[in-house]
Amino acid sequence: MPRYFPHMLCLILAVLLVPAAPVFTQAQVVKSGPPSCPGVALTFDLCPVRNGGGYDQELIDYLIAQKIPATFFMSGKWITKHDRQVKALLQVPFFEVGTHGEVHAHMPFQSAGEQEQEILGPVRLLKTKYHHDATLFRPPYGEFNDDTVNVTRALGLQFILWNVVSGDPDPTLTAIQIEGRLKRFVRKGSVIVMHANGKGQHTHEVVQDLHQHLLPERHLIPMTVSDLLNCSQAAP
Ligand SMILES: [Zn+2]
Repeated sequence: MPRYFPHMLCLILAVLLVPAAPVFTQAQVVKSGPPSCPGVALTFDLCPVRNGGGYDQELIDYLIAQKIPATFFMSGKWITKHDRQVKALLQVPFFEVGTHGEVHAHMPFQSAGEQEQEILGPVRLLKTKYHHDATLFRPPYGEFNDDTVNVTRALGLQFILWNVVSGDPDPTLTAIQIEGRLKRFVRKGSVIVMHANGKGQHTHEVVQDLHQHLLPERHLIPMTVSDLLNCSQAAP
């Protein structure tokens, strides 16, 4: 037996016995669905707004009329100002509702405890007032650190980002420019971030274009985020 054998044995045992590195992995941050799935998730953030109605009624009416599955991420502040709209969205069977922080805070500047309260605010509100279990969470501004991911997981929520930015709240972008961006990036399994709080001047028009042209031309179908993540359909 070579002399260094015991050392090697120790080394191998040490490697085997060291617990797995904690916790935060990219797999816990969902940015897209399976690349083999012919689905795309249209997602709409409901961030709090200071001015205006805070709700894109025409967009929602279009989604409902065309039976387009969609996922909404509601902030706590938005929920408290939009009771009627919360109820309306929760009633639509092909809509999914997740949360988007209580006051739309910048998570990385907060302690883990503060982040937990920010995340839990709208989750509790939807549960107690609307009897809705919201299990999807999207951090405000898409900003997060390891604490955000770990707290989200500890609360039993799924951490949902996106892999296609529409840019719809940018007032300098035209509908054509937003559509051009989507044409470039949308593919199987995409999660597209948009806004339904009235900040997107062209969101309704862009969604119409997606539904009537881009998605059918690419044989893609809109799905909620949960359906997209569970999608095991082969490519058509
Ligand atoms: Zn937001």
